[in-house]
Amino acid sequence: MAQELYQGGCTCGQARYQMSRKPMYVHCCHCSWCRKESGAAFGLNGMVEGNAVEMISGQVEMIDTPTASGRGQTISRCPKCQVALWGNFSKAAQAIHFVRLGTLDEPRFAPDAHIFTSTKLPWINLDDGIPSFREFYVKSEMWSRESIERYDDALRK
Ligand SMILES: [Zn+2]
Ligand SMILES: [Zn+2]
Repeated sequence: MAQELYQGGCTCGQARYQMSRKPMYVHCCHCSWCRKESGAAFGLNGMVEGNAVEMISGQVEMIDTPTASGRGQTISRCPKCQVALWGNFSKAAQAIHFVRLGTLDEPRFAPDAHIFTSTKLPWINLDDGIPSFREFYVKSEMWSRESIERYDDALRK
């Protein structure tokens, strides 16, 4: 069976990418940083091995962006329309992409968890049955064994 590929891109069409794997874990993040970065009510990020994401056309420009931790992140954006496709945080660097799942052509991946709901906007009602956390969760309690192995493998490379 052919491997399933998940394709996405920016809005001007210059930067197109594909993921060869499903996200290990998907965050719907209600922190104020994700809100500002996206200009929307929350961020929707799926963690995928950096080497499972490749450009199929165009390129990205990596923009240094501040984070709450102070360690910063790099956001990969289309150089033309500046739509953000994924971010990388210092801890895992390029080994793990935090893919902005709304940039997929078919954004089919639902969140595994809502995080930082203590700062969510008051009109968002989380009655969707997805686990939610006022801040963050304990990874070993939430992630599948397979996803933890994928994450650890990615960091070893
Ligand atoms: Zn673009
Ligand atoms: Zn956030």
